[in-house]
Amino acid sequence: MKQVISTEKHPIKLWVDQIEDSAINQAKNLANLPFVYKHVALMPDAHTGYGMPIGGVLATKGVIIPNAVGVDIGCGMCAIKTNIEDMDTTELKQLMSHIRKTIPLGKNSHKEKQDESLMPQRGDVSNVMEQLYSKALCQLGTLGGGNHFIEIQRGSDGYIWVMIHSGSRNIGKQIADFYNKKARQLNERWYTQVPINADLAFLPIETEEAHAYMNDMQYCIDFAFANRKQMMEKVKAGLLEINQGNVVFDDIINIAHNYAAWENHYNENVLVHRKGATRAYKGEIGIIPGSQGTKSYIVEGLGNPESFMSCSHGAGRVMGRKQAQRELDLETEISRLNEKGIIHAIRNTKDLDEAAGAYKDIDVVMANQKDLVKIKVELKPLAVVKG
Ligand code: 5GP
Ligand code: MN
Ligand code: MN
Repeated sequence: MKQVISTEKHPIKLWVDQIEDSAINQAKNLANLPFVYKHVALMPDAHTGYGMPIGGVLATKGVIIPNAVGVDIGCGMCAIKTNIEDMDTTELKQLMSHIRKTIPLGKNSHKEKQDESLMPQRGDVSNVMEQLYSKALCQLGTLGGGNHFIEIQRGSDGYIWVMIHSGSRNIGKQIADFYNKKARQLNERWYTQVPINADLAFLPIETEEAHAYMNDMQYCIDFAFANRKQMMEKVKAGLLEINQGNVVFDDIINIAHNYAAWENHYNENVLVHRKGATRAYKGEIGIIPGSQGTKSYIVEGLGNPESFMSCSHGAGRVMGRKQAQRELDLETEISRLNEKGIIHAIRNTKDLDEAAGAYKDIDVVMANQKDLVKIKVELKPLAVVKG
């Protein structure tokens, strides 16, 4: 840990050394909420989010806060190790074109509904969720926009890996917005004594609304897992085709970094919100992506109780999307990727929002969390498709 900041109510524990004042102010607002358990933890990739910093971990007693989960509910990473030792440019380009043919990118969805047996069981979801279901059937196995990506990497273990970053597409966003609005209305009606910021509106866990949110959130998490898995199946099929069926894959690693769940910490059951944070129980395998053109990592958790057994979910942004498009130099960012021989998709200034220069230095981020995780495999990018 790098630093502790105290507030009137609860301290903030930071593993980050490069962070904007606005993110610290958000953490202070959080730490001053009465239902915070122990402290607020900021991972080394933390930066300003909507209401709560991304890269933040918040444990609560008695309430759930929709905006402490994040809008892309269940967003996360999956990765798979192959037994392929090398891929040349022709093979990489073949795979990229297979990906573009079989996986809708950006805002696109499939034209047809996907097989319902590939979707998670709905169980006890609300009407709001039910109404989103038929659209979700076309969104299963689609990447989404922004910083979602599919990357082919070379591992320090000598093998080719595939990594995918994606979430619950539009359904998670709809659910997040619906319940944040609902929480605001309820807070204004009943809980005006709590010094809340409308962006941190909460639902007391015994309420019907909290139950409905928890069920719908869980469905979005399950959907996001299935979404990543479906895309990974498509990439696997592409690799098998290129290698005449001769590829062996390890088990898929599939983890969420935007969610809330009941967990036991310091011998109490609390709701842990991870908003852009990875669970890192002792021995647990996690995935920490760097950025387009830098290294990513497969890690093993150390189970540090002070971060509520969590670590970073990436490198984290140093600048917003618009700022990156304005300030980064296109030539510099392109040659940075070209020099490493990476097949990438930076073509014009608009694409600079996702350039490596818009993110923190992953080496520093990893050095700042040595007490949270240990590195198992280092992954260097060979080719990347962005959402
Ligand atoms: P978020 O979940 O907050 O949207 O971002 C996850 C993390 O993914 C970012 O903090 C960044 O470190 C990482 N990332 C973004 N784009 C890329 C990419 O193209 N390749 C890799 N390997 N990592 C990326
Ligand atoms: Mn996402
Ligand atoms: Mn994400």
